[in-house]
Amino acid sequence: MGFSVHLQGKIAHEALLSRQDAEIRLMDSMKRWIVNKVKCDRDYAISLSSTAAQGLKTTPGDDLAGSLVATSWRSIMEELDNTAKQIRQNADSIESKALDALNSLNVEKRKVRKLYQEEHTRILLQFTHLSDEVNRKKTEYQKYLELYKLMRSRFEEHYVKSGRGGRKLDDVRDKYQKACRKLHLTHNEYVLLLCEAVEFEKDFRTVLLPGLLEHQQSLQEAFILSLKHILQEIANNSDLSSEKFREIHKRIENCLDTIKPHEEYKDFTEKYKSTPAEPIKFTFDESLVEDSAGKLLPNQLTVDNLTVEWLRTKLNDLEASIKENQEKRNQLTNSHEGLANGKTTPTSEINNRLSTNVDTSKKEINELKCQERKMLKQTELIKSALNELGCEEVPSGCDLSLDNQTFISNSSEQGGSETHLSKRSPFNHQKLVKMLRKPFRRKSAPSSPVAPPRTRHSRSDSAPRSEGGDPVSITTNKSLVDEEWFHGVLPREEVVRLLTTDGDFLVRETTRNDECQTVLSVCWGGHKHFIVQTTAEGHYRFEGPAFPSIRELILYQFNSSLPVTGRSGAILYKPIPKERWELNNDDVNLLDKLGRGNFGDVYRAQLKNSNEIVAVKTCRVTLPEEHKKKFLQEGRILKQYDHPNIVKLIGICVQKQPIMIVMELVPGGSLLTFLRKKSSNLTDAQLMKMCLDAAAGMRYLESKNCIHRDLAARNCLVGYNNVVKISDFGMSREEEEYIVSDGMKQIPIKWTAPEALNFGYRMPAPDNTPDEMYRLMVRCWEYKPEVRPNFEQIYTVVDTLCAAYRVSFL
Ligand code: ADP
Repeated sequence: MGFSVHLQGKIAHEALLSRQDAEIRLMDSMKRWIVNKVKCDRDYAISLSSTAAQGLKTTPGDDLAGSLVATSWRSIMEELDNTAKQIRQNADSIESKALDALNSLNVEKRKVRKLYQEEHTRILLQFTHLSDEVNRKKTEYQKYLELYKLMRSRFEEHYVKSGRGGRKLDDVRDKYQKACRKLHLTHNEYVLLLCEAVEFEKDFRTVLLPGLLEHQQSLQEAFILSLKHILQEIANNSDLSSEKFREIHKRIENCLDTIKPHEEYKDFTEKYKSTPAEPIKFTFDESLVEDSAGKLLPNQLTVDNLTVEWLRTKLNDLEASIKENQEKRNQLTNSHEGLANGKTTPTSEINNRLSTNVDTSKKEINELKCQERKMLKQTELIKSALNELGCEEVPSGCDLSLDNQTFISNSSEQGGSETHLSKRSPFNHQKLVKMLRKPFRRKSAPSSPVAPPRTRHSRSDSAPRSEGGDPVSITTNKSLVDEEWFHGVLPREEVVRLLTTDGDFLVRETTRNDECQTVLSVCWGGHKHFIVQTTAEGHYRFEGPAFPSIRELILYQFNSSLPVTGRSGAILYKPIPKERWELNNDDVNLLDKLGRGNFGDVYRAQLKNSNEIVAVKTCRVTLPEEHKKKFLQEGRILKQYDHPNIVKLIGICVQKQPIMIVMELVPGGSLLTFLRKKSSNLTDAQLMKMCLDAAAGMRYLESKNCIHRDLAARNCLVGYNNVVKISDFGMSREEEEYIVSDGMKQIPIKWTAPEALNFGYRMPAPDNTPDEMYRLMVRCWEYKPEVRPNFEQIYTVVDTLCAAYRVSFL
């Protein structure tokens, strides 16, 4: 399959030329590629070399003294630099050898192509030329043949005409002979030319053209060989697995072999070895709770009304987190075991030790375990704190009984007057003790458990106890609410105020989350409140035995002298009866509505046992607990005052909802309305007398250190004979100092001290105001409080004015 035999055709010739052109273009591409490759290799070598230099530069020195990894790293960086040098060297080599060779080859290739084309054209022209000659000779031959024929016919014609002689004949003969000679010569030339053409044609086909093609083939194959050598050269210089690179790699591997994890930290550990760390103790700073009056104890959770919900939520959250944590841990443990038992692959050495799920999950499991332990401890702490509470009502975290204490001390200062409502009657108390004790005597009572042995808190030395009295049967159908020591929904603050000595107790009701609970409140080293527990059978108990009724339960606790709960140790010594003003709701018959107050409607009402007509303020059942307490505040304040110009408290009804305050009925209603409607009918003397009433009431309050804070005509009531009585003690306080409250909606502007308003307005004197009276008003508005008159002085001035009007008051 050579060129000489198969590529003689015209098409093949042209294809051969095209092929050579394509080969030249290929070589051009190769050239460009080599230039680029050399550049890339050089750039790469430069980058590699600079990363190696950086790698060496960033290696910290002293801190890694003795580190095998660091030493190995430095060597690897050096080898990396060697790699860069080798790459550079190879690139140089490619440029100097392969690129140069390719350049010369390219030039040669172009020459060879040109020569081939010229030679081919040349021999082809020769052949064409010969063919043309043959054709030309043939045409000539035909021309001389025609001439010969003409001359011969002319000679024959003359010869016949003139015989054998004559000049004309000679002439014609001569021409005939010449034509004959010319024809013969041309014939011979034609024969020879044909002979040459035949031979040339044979040579062209069998010698010249095949020769040219054969030569061309060998040249082209020689080029291919050269190209192969060039590519080989490039390949050799691009071989990253060549001996030189292998040597570098070998050295890198040797470096890596020097890294031994177990020896890596030998020097380091030796240098920094120290004894294991001492555990750090977290201790409670006891000074933090010094001022908490025992409410906050070091290392103990505080369970009170402020924290109990939070603790319960926290407990729930913790338990949920523990559960979640355990599930997660179980999952991880299972997958960890799966991984640990699984097959290891050859490349898993590092993976197993560093980054596989096995170690990650082990670490996570440990973390989860720690978290769980922590949460379990917290859960235990909260649970035991909540459990310890047992049936005790959650204690109050923020004791608002401070006011009460002030109240009590104020009350006791008043001595033994009849109006001292907080003083309990000893007679009543003795009666109560009897009532409590009697049922216990009936040992055969089916619901009473066997009497427990007396404790050291035996009531034999307890003063209020009386052994006398008529026996009362347990079968008495007296209910709990009829007991003197049952105080209904009396607020806790009131309860706390009533229980003053260890062993004092009473029973009350409270509402928690819309559920009515019966609470036994006891004074025992503070105030303890025990919620009566209901058993599945519907019986009642604390920690001890259960009874069919709460009353029996309380009697049992009282008679047995056993602590209500082990934790509290609280023993019931002295039942505290209701105070005089603690009325039953059923004692009051509401008649008609008098007005509407801030907390609820105000009624005219009748007391059932005395038929007395009274005024009753009711507190809406739906109001929040805080508001109800505030409502009762007025009752608490009022009950200690007794003055003709102060509205009188008769009692409070807290046995059940709605809670009510019972007061003397002041029939004229509010002073504001009264004045608006009737002032024109009143004489100046009458009006002055009303001022004097108000001043007298205020002078009384002043003497009791009571600040009303909301004195205004709308808060005064008008009684018989136009007597003015101060009312509405909802905002009043017993204070050493006046506290200016902000944000009050209904502030009594006209009567409020200027600094309380920070406002310059002074009301002008109403018509017919006596000058002296207006002067007094202006003095009351003095900017500096110390310049203003007190109520004692005010009373004196008004009293003098009244005298001047010669008004008889009595
Ligand atoms: P609150 O203090 O809740 O705002 P008020 O003391 O202002 O309630 O009473 C509302 C209305 O009820 C008064 O304006 C008055 O008409 C009437 N009222 C209040 N107390 C008595 C009373 N003791 N005698 C007669 N009416 C009274």
